[in-house]
Parts: sequence; structure tokens; C-alpha cells
Amino acid sequence: CGIVGCTTTERADRYLLPALQALEYRGYDSVGVAIATTDGTVTTVRSINRIGDLTAQLEARTGARLSGTGIGHTRWATHGDVTEANAHPHQDCDGLVSVVHNGIIENADVLRAELIAEGHRFSSGVDSEVICHLIEQSLVGASDSGLQGAIESCVRRLEGSWAILVMETSTGRLFATTHRAPLLVASSDNGHFVASDVTAIAPWITAFRVMSDGDLVELGSPLRWIAGGVEVAPPEALGLSWSSS
Ligand code: GLU
Repeated sequence: CGIVGCTTTERADRYLLPALQALEYRGYDSVGVAIATTDGTVTTVRSINRIGDLTAQLEARTGARLSGTGIGHTRWATHGDVTEANAHPHQDCDGLVSVVHNGIIENADVLRAELIAEGHRFSSGVDSEVICHLIEQSLVGASDSGLQGAIESCVRRLEGSWAILVMETSTGRLFATTHRAPLLVASSDNGHFVASDVTAIAPWITAFRVMSDGDLVELGSPLRWIAGGVEVAPPEALGLSWSSS
């Protein structure tokens, strides 16, 4: 229903929670965030209640040293009941990546059966969870081509529609990719943002650019924009017009 991600200089929850609140008008049945910690782990909180429940859960995790990198999701269930286990973000078996997804993976049943036969254990009934396991399969496989290669080979297997954010636990690297689902990347003085709707991030950003189908963007420093499999210079440097917010 709505997604948001950020790589910012301040704690990510300071942006993700208000952004999810701003997406609330679209309606949702569950909500969640995953935030990279400064010690190479991830803190995930999910709820079938209101967004305030995430704030309370995060406050209870007093030991977590939250970084400025995180992803968030409001869900409108298409596959699987409305439960906390089915709320996003989702993870692979070993927690290598956290993923949020808007859209529908039409061949999820086939992919799930194939992954289960290869030893993957699923922890939800959601179509989106196949994305985590496909990425894990590439990351641990003999032909490991890194996170970018793993995401590229994952989306080659998918049918349907998706806006996907992938955050790697150990490094906090954050990628976004889209196919027939809205997603835009924005810059600000505080860092980079990605969101399905500009309303989510409008208070902080100075400029944004809408992603095209098949684009892959790494929200790092510098921002890396891969279009049609080819890395292009950051849009500002290319002189492409960023839509001013
Ligand atoms: N198909 C996914 C699910 O059922 C994503 C739904 C959405 O876009 O919110 O959880």
C-alpha cells in the first residue's frame, strides 16, 4: 500500500514513523519498519494496530543503537491474512536482508514451492516473502555476485508488479527497484529518501525523481542509479530535470 526508506544522518525512525503516518490516509491493515543498527544487526517492529504501536515497541528496545538507514511499509493484504507474521518487512532464513514490497507477485506459489524444495523455511503466508529467499539464494550461492547481482537475478524470476526496498543487515546497504508500481527517489540536506508517494517525505526533501520500470537505485553516498542494467551518473550530474517538490 505504501513504502518508504531512508539513509539519513539522524536516526531513521525519526523519518520513517512520520512518513508512514503521512501515508495513513491511503488506509492499511498492518504496518512495520526495519532499521539497521550501528553494530551490524537490524531492529524490526511490526503491528496490526496503529502506527503509535511501532513507536511504543521501538521505545521498549532501549538497547538497540538505531542508525539512519531503514525501511517502512503500510500493507494492504493481497496474499495471506492480516497478522503480525504477514506484516512487512520480511526476512530470509538467516536474516541477511529485510524487504518491503508493494504489489503482487503472481508466480509466488511456484517460486515458494521451488524454494521450499531447496530447503528454505517460510515464516509467513505472503507472496512478498519469496523475494527475500530468492536474494538469499544468490547471496549464499557459489556464484555470489553481491547484493546488486542478487537483486537483479531475483527480479528476473518475478512476474507481477512490485516496488521493492532491500536492506542488507550486515552493511546497511539499501536498494530500491520497481516494475509497474510507483516509486520515487529524493534528496535532502539530511540524506536520501525513497517512497511510493511524495506526500510521505515532502517535509524534508528538496527534489525528487520518479523511477522508471526496471531501474535499480542504491541509496548510498553517492547515490547510484542503474537504468536498463547500465549505471548512469547521478541525475543531478547528468543534468536531468529533477522535479522540485
Ligand atoms: N502482496 C503483498 C502482501 O499481501 C503486498 C501488499 C501491498 O502492496 O501492501 O502483503
